Amino acid sequence: MKTINYFFTLLVLGFVLLAMEPQYLICRQMPDSTRLIPVSILYTANNNGYLENCECPGNPLGGLDRRVKLMQQLQMNSSTICLLLDGGDFLSSVGFPEKDDFVLEAYGNMRYDVLALGDQEFANGYSYVVGNLLKRSLPLVSASIEIKGVPNTAIKKYVIKDIQGIRFGITSVISDEPFELMPKDKIQDLKIADVRSCLNNVLKELRQKSDIVILLSHLGYSKDSKCAKESDAPDIIIGAHSQTLLQEPEHQGSSILVHSGKNGEHLGQLDILVDKTTKRIVKYSGQPIPILKDMEIDTAMKSLINRYKTFASTGYKDHTLVAGMNDSPDKTGEYIVKKGDTLWRIAIKIMGDPFQWKQLFEMNKDLIKNAQLIYPDQKIRIRKNSGQNNI
Ligand SMILES: [Zn+2]
Repeated sequence: MKTINYFFTLLVLGFVLLAMEPQYLICRQMPDSTRLIPVSILYTANNNGYLENCECPGNPLGGLDRRVKLMQQLQMNSSTICLLLDGGDFLSSVGFPEKDDFVLEAYGNMRYDVLALGDQEFANGYSYVVGNLLKRSLPLVSASIEIKGVPNTAIKKYVIKDIQGIRFGITSVISDEPFELMPKDKIQDLKIADVRSCLNNVLKELRQKSDIVILLSHLGYSKDSKCAKESDAPDIIIGAHSQTLLQEPEHQGSSILVHSGKNGEHLGQLDILVDKTTKRIVKYSGQPIPILKDMEIDTAMKSLINRYKTFASTGYKDHTLVAGMNDSPDKTGEYIVKKGDTLWRIAIKIMGDPFQWKQLFEMNKDLIKNAQLIYPDQKIRIRKNSGQNNI
Protein backbone atom coordinates (compact mmCIF):
# COMPACT_ATOMS: atom_id res chain seq x y z
CA MET A 1 0.00 0.00 0.00
CA LYS A 2 2.88 2.28 0.94
CA THR A 3 4.46 1.64 -2.48
CA ILE A 4 1.23 2.53 -4.27
CA ASN A 5 1.01 5.80 -2.29
CA TYR A 6 4.63 6.56 -3.14
CA PHE A 7 4.07 6.12 -6.89
CA PHE A 8 0.82 8.08 -6.71
CA THR A 9 2.65 10.98 -5.01
CA LEU A 10 5.35 10.89 -7.70
CA LEU A 11 2.71 10.91 -10.44
CA VAL A 12 0.94 13.94 -8.93
CA LEU A 13 4.29 15.72 -8.46
CA GLY A 14 5.10 15.04 -12.13
CA PHE A 15 1.84 16.65 -13.25
CA VAL A 16 2.42 19.65 -10.97
CA LEU A 17 5.93 20.16 -12.38
CA LEU A 18 4.65 19.86 -15.95
CA ALA A 19 1.97 22.44 -15.23
CA MET A 20 4.59 24.78 -13.75
CA GLU A 21 6.82 24.67 -16.80
CA PRO A 22 6.73 28.04 -18.60
CA GLN A 23 4.69 27.85 -21.78
CA TYR A 24 7.36 29.33 -24.02
CA LEU A 25 10.99 28.75 -23.34
CA ILE A 26 13.05 28.56 -26.42
CA CYS A 27 16.57 28.49 -25.06
CA ARG A 28 15.64 26.07 -22.34
CA GLN A 29 18.16 23.93 -20.52
CA MET A 30 19.19 21.08 -22.76
CA PRO A 31 20.44 17.75 -21.40
CA ASP A 32 23.83 18.27 -19.83
CA SER A 33 26.32 16.43 -21.97
CA THR A 34 29.80 17.11 -23.18
CA ARG A 35 29.02 15.25 -26.38
CA LEU A 36 25.88 17.15 -27.39
CA ILE A 37 25.80 20.88 -28.03
CA PRO A 38 22.41 22.57 -27.75
CA VAL A 39 21.69 25.52 -30.03
CA SER A 40 18.43 27.42 -30.30
CA ILE A 41 17.49 29.13 -33.54
CA LEU A 42 14.95 31.94 -33.40
CA TYR A 43 13.54 32.68 -36.84
CA THR A 44 11.15 35.14 -38.45
CA ALA A 45 10.14 36.13 -42.00
CA ASN A 46 7.50 38.11 -43.91
CA ASN A 47 7.23 40.88 -41.34
CA ASN A 48 5.69 42.87 -44.23
CA GLY A 49 6.43 46.26 -42.72
CA TYR A 50 4.61 45.68 -39.45
CA LEU A 51 5.70 47.47 -36.30
CA GLU A 52 2.71 47.22 -34.07
CA ASN A 53 -0.14 44.93 -33.33
CA CYS A 54 -2.87 46.66 -35.33
CA GLU A 55 -5.53 45.77 -32.73
CA CYS A 56 -7.75 44.86 -35.70
CA PRO A 57 -10.61 42.41 -35.30
CA GLY A 58 -9.51 39.09 -36.73
CA ASN A 59 -5.83 39.93 -36.36
CA PRO A 60 -4.91 39.74 -32.66
CA LEU A 61 -1.30 38.59 -33.10
CA GLY A 62 1.94 40.50 -33.56
CA GLY A 63 3.78 43.62 -32.42
CA LEU A 64 7.56 44.09 -32.38
CA ASP A 65 7.40 45.38 -28.79
CA ARG A 66 6.09 41.99 -27.71
CA ARG A 67 8.45 40.06 -29.97
CA VAL A 68 11.49 41.80 -28.48
CA LYS A 69 10.35 41.17 -24.90
CA LEU A 70 9.75 37.51 -25.69
CA MET A 71 13.20 37.19 -27.26
CA GLN A 72 14.78 38.78 -24.18
CA GLN A 73 12.89 36.50 -21.80
CA LEU A 74 13.85 33.42 -23.74
CA GLN A 75 17.50 34.40 -23.88
CA MET A 76 17.59 35.26 -20.17
CA ASN A 77 16.33 31.79 -19.36
CA SER A 78 18.82 30.29 -21.71
CA SER A 79 21.74 28.06 -21.03
CA THR A 80 22.28 27.69 -24.76
CA ILE A 81 23.34 30.02 -27.53
CA CYS A 82 20.66 31.44 -29.76
CA LEU A 83 20.91 32.38 -33.40
CA LEU A 84 18.48 35.05 -34.55
CA LEU A 85 17.64 34.83 -38.27
CA ASP A 86 15.13 36.45 -40.64
CA GLY A 87 14.12 35.13 -44.07
CA GLY A 88 13.38 38.53 -45.64
CA ASP A 89 10.42 40.78 -46.55
CA PHE A 90 10.82 42.65 -43.30
CA LEU A 91 9.80 45.86 -45.13
CA SER A 92 6.36 46.62 -46.53
CA SER A 93 5.24 45.19 -49.85
CA VAL A 94 4.03 48.45 -51.39
CA GLY A 95 6.91 50.73 -50.61
CA PHE A 96 6.22 53.07 -47.70
CA PRO A 97 9.62 54.65 -47.14
CA GLU A 98 8.59 56.73 -44.13
CA LYS A 99 7.29 53.73 -42.19
CA ASP A 100 10.03 51.44 -43.48
CA ASP A 101 12.58 53.78 -41.87
CA PHE A 102 11.04 52.95 -38.49
CA VAL A 103 11.05 49.23 -39.34
CA LEU A 104 14.74 49.41 -40.27
CA GLU A 105 15.53 51.14 -36.98
CA ALA A 106 13.58 48.45 -35.13
CA TYR A 107 15.38 45.61 -36.95
CA GLY A 108 18.74 47.27 -36.19
CA ASN A 109 17.83 47.35 -32.49
CA MET A 110 16.81 43.69 -32.45
CA ARG A 111 20.35 42.60 -33.28
CA TYR A 112 19.66 39.84 -35.76
CA ASP A 113 22.59 37.59 -36.71
CA VAL A 114 21.45 37.42 -40.34
CA LEU A 115 18.76 39.18 -42.34
CA ALA A 116 17.98 37.70 -45.75
CA LEU A 117 16.98 40.07 -48.53
CA GLY A 118 13.47 39.55 -49.88
CA ASP A 119 11.86 41.22 -52.87
CA GLN A 120 10.00 43.69 -50.65
CA GLU A 121 13.24 45.23 -49.48
CA PHE A 122 13.35 46.71 -53.00
CA ALA A 123 9.77 48.02 -53.15
CA ASN A 124 10.95 51.57 -52.35
CA GLY A 125 13.35 51.58 -55.30
CA TYR A 126 17.11 51.78 -55.77
CA SER A 127 17.72 55.11 -54.07
CA TYR A 128 16.04 53.92 -50.88
CA VAL A 129 18.06 50.69 -50.89
CA VAL A 130 21.35 52.55 -51.23
CA GLY A 131 20.45 55.62 -49.18
CA ASN A 132 18.57 53.96 -46.31
CA LEU A 133 18.65 50.16 -46.18
CA LEU A 134 22.38 49.74 -46.77
CA LYS A 135 23.29 52.68 -44.51
CA ARG A 136 21.96 50.85 -41.44
CA SER A 137 24.84 48.35 -41.25
CA LEU A 138 22.39 45.47 -40.95
CA PRO A 139 23.71 41.90 -41.33
CA LEU A 140 22.28 41.47 -44.85
CA VAL A 141 22.95 38.21 -46.66
CA SER A 142 22.02 37.09 -50.18
CA ALA A 143 23.90 34.73 -52.45
CA SER A 144 21.79 35.59 -55.48
CA ILE A 145 21.36 39.37 -55.39
CA GLU A 146 23.81 41.88 -56.74
CA ILE A 147 23.10 45.61 -56.77
CA LYS A 148 24.75 47.89 -59.27
CA GLY A 149 27.36 50.14 -57.67
CA VAL A 150 27.15 48.38 -54.31
CA PRO A 151 30.32 46.57 -53.14
CA ASN A 152 30.06 42.86 -52.33
CA THR A 153 30.96 43.61 -48.72
CA ALA A 154 27.63 45.39 -48.14
CA ILE A 155 25.66 42.22 -48.83
CA LYS A 156 27.49 39.05 -47.87
CA LYS A 157 26.96 35.80 -49.79
CA TYR A 158 27.03 33.90 -46.51
CA VAL A 159 28.26 34.13 -42.93
CA ILE A 160 29.83 31.49 -40.72
CA LYS A 161 29.13 31.51 -36.98
CA ASP A 162 31.22 29.38 -34.66
CA ILE A 163 29.26 28.07 -31.69
CA GLN A 164 31.36 25.97 -29.31
CA GLY A 165 33.44 24.60 -32.14
CA ILE A 166 30.50 23.92 -34.47
CA ARG A 167 30.58 26.09 -37.59
CA PHE A 168 27.18 27.24 -38.82
CA GLY A 169 27.20 28.36 -42.45
CA ILE A 170 24.22 30.63 -43.14
CA THR A 171 23.20 31.81 -46.60
CA SER A 172 20.14 33.07 -48.41
CA VAL A 173 18.71 32.97 -51.93
CA ILE A 174 15.87 34.50 -53.87
CA SER A 175 14.91 33.88 -57.51
CA ASP A 176 13.74 36.46 -60.06
CA GLU A 177 10.14 35.20 -59.81
CA PRO A 178 9.00 37.46 -56.93
CA PHE A 179 10.27 40.48 -58.92
CA GLU A 180 8.31 39.54 -62.08
CA LEU A 181 5.67 42.23 -61.94
CA MET A 182 7.48 44.79 -59.81
CA PRO A 183 7.78 48.06 -61.76
CA LYS A 184 10.96 47.87 -63.82
CA ASP A 185 12.28 51.21 -62.57
CA LYS A 186 12.48 49.78 -59.04
CA ILE A 187 14.61 46.82 -59.98
CA GLN A 188 16.61 47.94 -63.02
CA ASP A 189 19.81 48.03 -60.97
CA LEU A 190 19.32 44.55 -59.56
CA LYS A 191 20.95 41.42 -60.87
CA ILE A 192 19.41 38.14 -59.73
CA ALA A 193 21.56 35.08 -60.37
CA ASP A 194 20.11 31.82 -61.67
CA VAL A 195 18.93 30.28 -58.45
CA ARG A 196 19.83 26.63 -59.14
CA SER A 197 23.44 27.24 -60.08
CA CYS A 198 23.79 29.88 -57.39
CA LEU A 199 22.51 27.42 -54.78
CA ASN A 200 24.80 24.67 -56.06
CA ASN A 201 27.83 26.91 -55.73
CA VAL A 202 27.10 28.44 -52.36
CA LEU A 203 25.98 25.18 -50.74
CA LYS A 204 29.08 23.41 -52.04
CA GLU A 205 31.30 26.14 -50.62
CA LEU A 206 29.50 26.10 -47.29
CA ARG A 207 29.74 22.31 -47.04
CA GLN A 208 33.52 22.69 -47.16
CA LYS A 209 33.72 25.64 -44.77
CA SER A 210 31.08 24.76 -42.18
CA ASP A 211 29.48 21.85 -40.31
CA ILE A 212 25.79 22.80 -40.31
CA VAL A 213 24.37 24.58 -43.35
CA ILE A 214 21.33 26.85 -42.90
CA LEU A 215 19.50 28.24 -45.93
CA LEU A 216 17.27 31.27 -45.52
CA SER A 217 15.16 30.56 -48.55
CA HIS A 218 13.08 33.27 -50.18
CA LEU A 219 11.73 30.79 -52.72
CA GLY A 220 8.45 29.81 -51.06
CA TYR A 221 7.28 26.56 -49.48
CA SER A 222 6.88 24.37 -52.59
CA LYS A 223 10.38 25.18 -53.87
CA ASP A 224 11.78 24.66 -50.37
CA SER A 225 10.30 21.16 -50.43
CA LYS A 226 12.07 20.42 -53.72
CA CYS A 227 15.34 21.89 -52.46
CA ALA A 228 15.18 19.66 -49.35
CA LYS A 229 15.14 16.59 -51.59
CA GLU A 230 18.17 17.56 -53.69
CA SER A 231 21.46 15.77 -53.09
CA ASP A 232 23.18 18.91 -51.79
CA ALA A 233 20.29 19.93 -49.53
CA PRO A 234 21.02 22.22 -46.56
CA ASP A 235 20.62 20.84 -43.03
CA ILE A 236 18.04 23.49 -42.16
CA ILE A 237 15.77 25.51 -44.46
CA ILE A 238 14.12 28.56 -42.96
CA GLY A 239 11.49 29.54 -45.49
CA ALA A 240 9.95 32.87 -46.46
CA HIS A 241 7.91 34.68 -49.12
CA SER A 242 4.96 32.25 -49.35
CA GLN A 243 3.63 33.44 -45.95
CA THR A 244 3.41 29.77 -44.89
CA LEU A 245 3.04 28.89 -41.23
CA LEU A 246 4.28 25.42 -40.27
CA GLN A 247 3.11 24.42 -36.81
CA GLU A 248 6.11 22.17 -36.38
CA PRO A 249 9.42 21.54 -38.16
CA GLU A 250 9.07 19.19 -41.13
CA HIS A 251 11.70 16.61 -41.96
CA GLN A 252 11.84 16.60 -45.75
CA GLY A 253 14.61 14.85 -47.69
CA SER A 254 17.70 15.53 -45.62
CA SER A 255 16.57 18.95 -44.38
CA ILE A 256 14.63 20.31 -41.45
CA LEU A 257 12.12 22.79 -42.91
CA VAL A 258 10.44 25.59 -40.93
CA HIS A 259 8.22 28.56 -41.86
CA SER A 260 7.03 31.22 -39.39
CA GLY A 261 4.00 32.78 -41.11
CA LYS A 262 3.40 36.46 -41.77
CA ASN A 263 3.10 40.00 -40.41
CA GLY A 264 5.22 39.32 -37.33
CA GLU A 265 2.49 37.19 -35.83
CA HIS A 266 4.85 34.45 -34.66
CA LEU A 267 8.42 34.01 -33.47
CA GLY A 268 9.76 30.69 -34.70
CA GLN A 269 11.89 28.49 -32.52
CA LEU A 270 13.99 25.51 -33.50
CA ASP A 271 16.07 23.77 -30.84
CA ILE A 272 18.76 21.44 -32.10
CA LEU A 273 21.31 19.14 -30.49
CA VAL A 274 24.57 18.78 -32.40
CA ASP A 275 26.93 15.87 -31.81
CA LYS A 276 30.32 17.37 -31.05
CA THR A 277 32.20 14.48 -32.67
CA THR A 278 30.25 13.92 -35.87
CA LYS A 279 29.11 17.59 -36.01
CA ARG A 280 25.68 16.46 -37.16
CA ILE A 281 22.23 17.34 -35.80
CA VAL A 282 21.02 14.39 -33.73
CA LYS A 283 17.78 15.83 -32.37
CA TYR A 284 15.49 18.76 -33.02
CA SER A 285 12.21 20.22 -31.83
CA GLY A 286 10.37 23.50 -31.98
CA GLN A 287 7.32 25.47 -33.07
CA PRO A 288 6.25 28.99 -33.99
CA ILE A 289 5.31 30.96 -30.87
CA PRO A 290 2.25 33.19 -31.34
CA ILE A 291 2.85 36.81 -30.29
CA LEU A 292 -0.22 37.30 -28.13
CA LYS A 293 -1.86 40.55 -27.06
CA ASP A 294 -1.43 39.90 -23.36
CA MET A 295 2.33 39.30 -23.57
CA GLU A 296 4.70 41.74 -21.88
CA ILE A 297 6.11 44.56 -23.99
CA ASP A 298 9.60 46.01 -24.34
CA THR A 299 9.42 49.69 -23.41
CA ALA A 300 12.21 50.84 -25.77
CA MET A 301 10.51 49.21 -28.77
CA LYS A 302 7.17 50.54 -27.59
CA SER A 303 8.52 54.09 -27.59
CA LEU A 304 9.84 53.60 -31.15
CA ILE A 305 6.35 52.44 -32.18
CA ASN A 306 4.81 55.46 -30.41
CA ARG A 307 7.16 57.76 -32.31
CA TYR A 308 5.87 56.20 -35.52
CA LYS A 309 2.25 56.56 -34.37
CA THR A 310 2.80 60.26 -33.67
CA PHE A 311 4.23 60.60 -37.17
CA ALA A 312 1.36 58.59 -38.69
CA SER A 313 -1.26 60.71 -36.89
CA THR A 314 -0.38 63.54 -39.25
CA GLY A 315 -2.37 61.78 -41.97
CA TYR A 316 0.05 59.19 -43.29
CA LYS A 317 -1.83 56.26 -44.84
CA ASP A 318 -0.65 52.99 -43.39
CA HIS A 319 -1.31 50.02 -45.67
CA THR A 320 -0.44 47.49 -42.95
CA LEU A 321 -3.43 48.58 -40.89
CA VAL A 322 -5.65 48.04 -43.91
CA ALA A 323 -4.01 44.69 -44.60
CA GLY A 324 -4.79 43.71 -41.02
CA MET A 325 -8.48 43.88 -41.84
CA ASN A 326 -8.15 41.30 -44.58
CA ASP A 327 -10.21 38.84 -42.59
CA SER A 328 -13.31 40.98 -43.15
CA PRO A 329 -15.74 39.77 -45.78
CA ASP A 330 -14.70 40.56 -49.34
CA LYS A 331 -16.72 42.28 -52.04
CA THR A 332 -16.40 41.23 -55.63
CA GLY A 333 -16.83 43.56 -58.52
CA GLU A 334 -15.60 44.69 -61.90
CA TYR A 335 -12.77 47.01 -62.79
CA ILE A 336 -12.13 48.74 -66.11
CA VAL A 337 -8.42 48.78 -66.92
CA LYS A 338 -7.02 52.27 -67.38
CA LYS A 339 -4.07 53.44 -69.44
CA GLY A 340 -0.82 52.67 -67.62
CA ASP A 341 -2.40 49.98 -65.40
CA THR A 342 -0.63 46.71 -64.67
CA LEU A 343 -1.92 43.90 -62.47
CA TRP A 344 0.68 45.06 -59.94
CA ARG A 345 -0.72 48.61 -59.89
CA ILE A 346 -4.33 47.44 -59.81
CA ALA A 347 -3.52 45.15 -56.85
CA ILE A 348 -2.14 48.19 -54.98
CA LYS A 349 -5.19 50.29 -55.85
CA ILE A 350 -7.79 47.67 -55.04
CA MET A 351 -6.22 45.42 -52.43
CA GLY A 352 -3.52 47.65 -50.96
CA ASP A 353 -0.91 44.99 -51.67
CA PRO A 354 0.90 44.59 -55.01
CA PHE A 355 1.67 40.95 -54.38
CA GLN A 356 -2.00 40.13 -54.64
CA TRP A 357 -1.59 40.55 -58.42
CA LYS A 358 -1.37 36.76 -58.55
CA GLN A 359 -4.81 36.50 -56.97
CA LEU A 360 -6.16 38.92 -59.58
CA PHE A 361 -4.55 36.85 -62.33
CA GLU A 362 -6.08 33.64 -60.94
CA MET A 363 -9.53 35.25 -60.75
CA ASN A 364 -9.27 36.29 -64.39
CA LYS A 365 -7.53 33.30 -65.96
CA ASP A 366 -10.24 33.12 -68.64
CA LEU A 367 -9.85 36.83 -69.50
CA ILE A 368 -6.11 37.35 -69.13
CA LYS A 369 -3.82 34.92 -70.91
CA ASN A 370 -0.56 36.68 -70.05
CA ALA A 371 -0.19 38.54 -66.75
CA GLN A 372 2.00 41.13 -68.45
CA LEU A 373 -0.66 41.96 -71.05
CA ILE A 374 -3.80 43.82 -70.06
CA TYR A 375 -5.44 46.53 -72.12
CA PRO A 376 -7.19 49.86 -71.49
CA ASP A 377 -10.98 49.43 -71.26
CA GLN A 378 -10.61 45.71 -70.63
CA LYS A 379 -13.02 44.59 -67.87
CA ILE A 380 -11.61 42.34 -65.16
CA ARG A 381 -13.00 40.80 -61.99
CA ILE A 382 -11.73 42.16 -58.69
CA ARG A 383 -12.16 41.35 -55.03
CA LYS A 384 -12.11 44.41 -52.84
CA ASN A 385 -11.40 44.01 -49.14
CA SER A 386 -13.87 45.73 -46.82
CA GLY A 387 -12.41 48.92 -45.44
CA GLN A 388 -10.64 49.71 -48.72
CA ASN A 389 -11.30 53.00 -50.38
CA ASN A 390 -13.69 53.09 -53.28
CA ILE A 391 -12.04 53.02 -56.68
ZN1 LIG B 1 8.99 38.00 -50.80
